[in-house]
Amino acid sequence: MKFGTKAIHAGVAPDPSTGAIMTPIFQTSTYVQESPAKHKGYAYARGANPTRNALQASIAALENGRFGLCFSSGMGATDAVIKLLNPGDEVITTSDIYGGSYRMFTKVYEKYGIGFHFVDMTDVANIKPLLNAKTRLLWVETPSNPLMRVTDIGACCALAKTVGAMVAVDNTFASPYLQNPLDLGADIVMHSVTKYLGGHSDVVMGALVTNNEKIHQELAFIANSCGAVPGPQDSFLVLRGIKTLHLRMERHCFNGRKVAEYLRKHPKVGHVYWPGFEDHHNHAIAKKQMRDFGGMLSFTLKDDSTAKAVLLMESVQLFSLAESLGGVESLINHPASMTHASIPKAERVKNGLTDSLIRLSVGVEDAEDLLDDLAQALEKV
Ligand SMILES: *Cc1c(COP(=O)(O)O)cnc(C)c1O
Repeated sequence: MKFGTKAIHAGVAPDPSTGAIMTPIFQTSTYVQESPAKHKGYAYARGANPTRNALQASIAALENGRFGLCFSSGMGATDAVIKLLNPGDEVITTSDIYGGSYRMFTKVYEKYGIGFHFVDMTDVANIKPLLNAKTRLLWVETPSNPLMRVTDIGACCALAKTVGAMVAVDNTFASPYLQNPLDLGADIVMHSVTKYLGGHSDVVMGALVTNNEKIHQELAFIANSCGAVPGPQDSFLVLRGIKTLHLRMERHCFNGRKVAEYLRKHPKVGHVYWPGFEDHHNHAIAKKQMRDFGGMLSFTLKDDSTAKAVLLMESVQLFSLAESLGGVESLINHPASMTHASIPKAERVKNGLTDSLIRLSVGVEDAEDLLDDLAQALEKV
């Protein structure tokens, strides 16, 4: 099946008892059994729920994976991956990683004796010197948030193999429509389902997909033991959102390109970070591993002051000033004080995430209206 057909049909089937074409919301915490040792595959809803199962099968199919698991947030999913590790194990990850991941790795897990190395993974040569017998995991985020840096997933997988480490890819920014890390050799794909998969800014959820049955069993054990599972209503909303994922992504990509090209030509704009530009640092790799370049981009103003950036964010009318991304509506964000405020300033600035950086999640409105809105806001700064 091709992607758009999978988005609509994979993992779901008409309800056998009624013929309902939409997966029912099984709003139940427990299931009646015939006898203590006999049930229909469902005993208690932390372990399994039919609405959630359908969603897990759908997301797994979109990532060309055999096994999917959903969590109550993207961070819940990431947490489950780190729980595969033991004290003394080491993780190598990207230096401009999502702020919440950085916070979890350094503030929650370092104290349990897991070591984290943050490097610029856009040059895979930086990874090699850190690889050793203790390396258990490479945590890759590409394109990265918010600087849209691109890491070569296949090259990371080849390096990880040399020491027997796993590779997990945070595929939130690309969505399965643009990039399938398992096909490039990754062991685990993670999604903040909250973003493009849900797509309507109404659900917080996470997901993990793998082809490795042993890893899946361990993750499922962690999900059931630790309990960060999503409810059936949210699972239904995401199943519904996924049915238009391919249509939404097509428009996100179209609008993303329009906005990136417009901003790049604007006399008041400094640098535009978007992997679709031929002079983007890793454009060739982006072209190789992604099908298009998406609707996420960041930029600075030529007048590189926080005050001007803030004025622009207060001047837009159609773009909403908000955290998060990947919904149908366009959002504008100030990473330094919002999504990435949990990273210490010195660390942030060292990685290029300056106070004046502005991030856009370009939605699926009409592109002309989005450009008009940016034009009137840029006039005011
Ligand atoms: C939002 C986000 C997360 C965290 O997901 P939640 O659903 O908010 O817990 C992780 N990685 C990236 C790249 C994100 O954008």
